Amino acid sequence: MHQTRTALAALVLTAVALLAAACGKSGSPPVKGPKGSQLPRYTTATGFRLPGSATWEKARSRGRLVVGAKEDQPYMGERDPASGTYTGFDIEIARMLSASLGFDPKTIQFKTISSANRETALQNGQIDYYVGTYTINAKRKQQVGFAGPYYMAGQGLLVRKDQKGIDGPGDLAGRKVCSAAGSTPYQRIQSDYPKADLVAYDTYSVCVDNLLTYQVDAVTTDDAILMGYAAKVPDELKLAGRPFSQEPYGIGVPRGDTALRFALDDALAAHEKNGDWKKAYDATLGLSGVPAPKPPAIDRYPAS
Ligand code: GLU
Repeated sequence: MHQTRTALAALVLTAVALLAAACGKSGSPPVKGPKGSQLPRYTTATGFRLPGSATWEKARSRGRLVVGAKEDQPYMGERDPASGTYTGFDIEIARMLSASLGFDPKTIQFKTISSANRETALQNGQIDYYVGTYTINAKRKQQVGFAGPYYMAGQGLLVRKDQKGIDGPGDLAGRKVCSAAGSTPYQRIQSDYPKADLVAYDTYSVCVDNLLTYQVDAVTTDDAILMGYAAKVPDELKLAGRPFSQEPYGIGVPRGDTALRFALDDALAAHEKNGDWKKAYDATLGLSGVPAPKPPAIDRYPAS
């Protein structure tokens, strides 16, 4: 009898300790993945108006923003298939900007758009803006507008941990290399390293599956994306060599909507200044172990 009660008391105590740990009291083990409690809370602007922006006006009558994103890029843009919730650094950027434009971030309707379909999605009005590892460059600027940049990535290589002899893009001759169609890393390998045996899929996660099953020798895209995949299976995958390009990430907007682009530039600057940007980074991409860099200078280029 006495023994049973002691055992029961011990059980209750363990349960209490476990609960306390789960609630994040001291002594709880570090949790991998973004913790809700660490993410910044964004205050939705009240009375904000942007009459010069057709995109904003359309969102206003709809009652919410529709934002394009990625859904298979850990730490950056990831969708939980069970709940449909999106998480990651890009998603946080989308949320903080939404708040500044007067739309409660909780109401954003995220739409997954692959690398090859971003320009058309913006041109067709399928989305109001796009936040998804989207490199700003002159060619794309002929089709869409870019607020930002909000982050500077660089092209890298992901290989299997046992891989020898791939330390940079110069080692790719005769090797099977996978990237996403319509991406700048794909285009760079095609033009600068034509001896590589390049294959393209719609998404990088398919490339990573192919790497894990020995169908390709390397996956190439931005280091910010590759770090997330490596972190998911650290025993099997690693980044090889150093980044070999500069990929400034911008927020894609419909090309003619300069009012929206400038409003997003202003909002981004404000969130960098008030600490939201760093908090968001620390709770997402920062979990890869790379400390928050200084955000790149915003390029408020004139309307053309
Ligand atoms: N940042 C590169 C690009 O915009 C690669 C990542 C991606 O495909 O989203 O093409």
